[in-house]
Amino acid sequence: MRKPIIAGNWKMYKTFDEAVEFVESVREAVPSDEKVDAVICAPALYLPTLVDLATETDLAIGAQNMHFENEGAFTGEISPSQLEAIHVDYVILGHSERREYFNETDEAVNKKVKAALSHGIVPIICCGETLEEREAGQTEEKVSNQVKAALQGFSSEEVAHMVIAYEPIWAIGTGKTATAEDANHVCGQIRKVVEELYDNSTAQQIRIQYGGSVKPDNIEELLSKEHIDGALVGGASLQVESYLALLDKI
Ligand code: PGA
Repeated sequence: MRKPIIAGNWKMYKTFDEAVEFVESVREAVPSDEKVDAVICAPALYLPTLVDLATETDLAIGAQNMHFENEGAFTGEISPSQLEAIHVDYVILGHSERREYFNETDEAVNKKVKAALSHGIVPIICCGETLEEREAGQTEEKVSNQVKAALQGFSSEEVAHMVIAYEPIWAIGTGKTATAEDANHVCGQIRKVVEELYDNSTAQQIRIQYGGSVKPDNIEELLSKEHIDGALVGGASLQVESYLALLDKI
């Protein structure tokens, strides 16, 4: 009943020409958006061009971050209203790289989620534990605290339309994927947190992705699990062939 969502996270990769070529190559080839939401989250600099190239296709374009204020003296930042004005559909918020290298806090992520919703942008809210936390048996606590903090102050209707990405930090860019069972278990815990905070219907509607070394040869097993509704994909979203191969497995 939940539509799968496969989002590519390009991070700080690709030249402008490579980005344009990629979108020109995949835009007619992605499956219908009635079947799956196919998203590319590109460097901010390329967004207006890529949104134009993807108009009236089944490919959606997203940003990788944004500020929570609408305007102001925040050198180098991009605001939710600026993203809205160029018709960006999604924004990744609270990615572990932002939390780790740019000191993004749970409180800032919550403000960003609020800002995204008030500008009609679907937030992809990231959470996940470090290897140390996993080994210390703290995965559930870490992930539920991040989710609770991010979801503070929303109605159940708003939450139902959000996307959460569970990304164990030790699996990002390392080639190590959580087993499908482990990933499903944590995604199920996240759904339980949403049910406790809201209700069962909201928990059944919110989409939860897994992220961390997802590839065409492991996506099928991950997506076959009850609580995994899609994937947030870094490395394997950079090549046309592997991005389309991921979508092909839906
Ligand atoms: P990866 O990155 O697929 O390269 O592991 C995932 C992410 O950081 O979103």
